[in-house]
Amino acid sequence: MGQPGSIKYECLKCKSTRSTTGEKYGEVIVCAVCNGAMVDLSKIAEYKAAAETKSKDNKTILMSSENHDGWKLEELLDQVEYEVAHKINKIIDDPSPQAQLVVRNNLSIIEHLGAAAVLQRSSGIVLDALRANEGPAGKPRIGRDKG
Ligand SMILES: [Zn+2]
Repeated sequence: MGQPGSIKYECLKCKSTRSTTGEKYGEVIVCAVCNGAMVDLSKIAEYKAAAETKSKDNKTILMSSENHDGWKLEELLDQVEYEVAHKINKIIDDPSPQAQLVVRNNLSIIEHLGAAAVLQRSSGIVLDALRANEGPAGKPRIGRDKG
């Protein structure tokens, strides 16, 4: 077991592990070995279990070469924004400080999701400039399996 407050991460790409203490917490950090994405080890099992119960056929949520009818990230972010907006409208008329705090938090969450969608769309623009998108069944434009 690590020191109290230390977070153990595992790289999803090279499987190397690393513990951090006292750094700014992030569920996902960059692997120093391979530059891949490392995930908080205590969360990995949780995420896998959630994906199994919440998505059909044990599939992941995002569109990929393994999940052709999954969500495009930017469309999923837009959908979540839309659903959070609905949640706001259900509580906006409740004047309690708790409800108003949740409204403010949800507005901030929508703003962050919007910023994430902008990042994802800018990735799309860069990739479209490389080559037309062949879709999830086609040759990837970047990465290990690129055509
Ligand atoms: Zn790695």
